[in-house]
Amino acid sequence: MTDQNKNKRPCVFLDRDGVINTGGLINLPADLHLIAGVPAAIASLKKAGFIVGICTNQNGLSEDFEGNIVWKQRPLTREKLSVIQDELLRLLGPDAQPDFIKICPHAKKLDCACRKPKGGMLLEAAAEFDVDISRSFMIGDMSTDIKAGIAAGVTPLFVRSGFEPEQIDKCPQGTIAFASLVEAAAYILSQG
Ligand SMILES: [Mg+2]
Ligand SMILES: [Zn+2]
Repeated sequence: MTDQNKNKRPCVFLDRDGVINTGGLINLPADLHLIAGVPAAIASLKKAGFIVGICTNQNGLSEDFEGNIVWKQRPLTREKLSVIQDELLRLLGPDAQPDFIKICPHAKKLDCACRKPKGGMLLEAAAEFDVDISRSFMIGDMSTDIKAGIAAGVTPLFVRSGFEPEQIDKCPQGTIAFASLVEAAAYILSQG
């Protein structure tokens, strides 16, 4: 560890759908179903000193860079997302509250720097929370999560708890895969 990184903390960046809650369309709080063991896994990472944050593409908001709505039939609004996030925090419980939630609200057709597979959301949070990138991880169920982790310079971990476990085949060779966040968190904690 360099002197420069001495006071920095590592972070575990989490994708949301397929990692924390089951995948599929999440347009209502009732669509949220936590994957078994996730609150305890997040709590164990936090207790070990990791910053834990969520980085999620929310192109359903379909905003441009000024916050204008690009697609009028968009399935999500800022208000709906806020209610969904409140419910997620409630389900996670007091010991597993994420330190941040970063979203990319941009329409798919915009070439923004934050939408995964780019690393913008992770790098923004890393700067904000003084994260030690070299000791950090990104956990996701899609190849775009893995690529975002690599773009940001963290260790990517794939989980098969999403709707497309075969996405591992689209990840760079050697990507480490686990059944779920529970096993991935245990691996991180075993690294010392
Ligand atoms: Mg996902
Ligand atoms: Zn974006």
